[in-house]
Amino acid sequence: MSKRRIGVLALQGAFYEHERILVSLGEDTSEVRRKEDLKGISALIIPGGESTTIGKLLRELDILDPLKVMIDNGLPVMGTCAGEILLADSVDGRKSDYIATIPMNVRRNAYGRQLGSFIANEDFYGIDGKVPMCFIRAPYIESAGQGVRVVARCNGRVVGVRYDSQLAISFHPEISGDTRIHSYFLNSVMQGQSL
Ligand code: GLN
Repeated sequence: MSKRRIGVLALQGAFYEHERILVSLGEDTSEVRRKEDLKGISALIIPGGESTTIGKLLRELDILDPLKVMIDNGLPVMGTCAGEILLADSVDGRKSDYIATIPMNVRRNAYGRQLGSFIANEDFYGIDGKVPMCFIRAPYIESAGQGVRVVARCNGRVVGVRYDSQLAISFHPEISGDTRIHSYFLNSVMQGQSL
């Protein structure tokens, strides 16, 4: 059996750092820049960056629709920060026309300019001990629909959810030097372990 391969959406943003972590965890990775690159991946990471830019490119490059179908059919996906926004079916109270595969409303740039970036250490469901969370002009999850389970909170706000095989987090796990979020995705979410 061939080894699984984790795709990393590489249109814009912090994709390279995710690849480095995946490789350090012994995974094969590939960059997704065209719809053909979706073929054969076992999971996809959607990095942080600028959600409007990544969303526009996803549409222009015709990746959006095939990706939605793959996620609806169970492709495990982890969206971080801008990636979380792209997975939400509602952004700032308006219906999203991006990937929109998780029933939840996210608030973009929710922490305002003054508190634009910060680091916190918080609990994360399924991980022992505190997890460092780097927030960079981050969104938070304001409300979520049925079946969406909260996996992380910070200052009373929801900053991580799981919806079947989709994991969406508001912070950047690729810059903290802590690989436990990636391991959680690879070992729990991808294996279909329930909460
Ligand atoms: N503020 C960005 C957006 O709205 C997300 C920031 C990030 O990914 N670090 O897309």
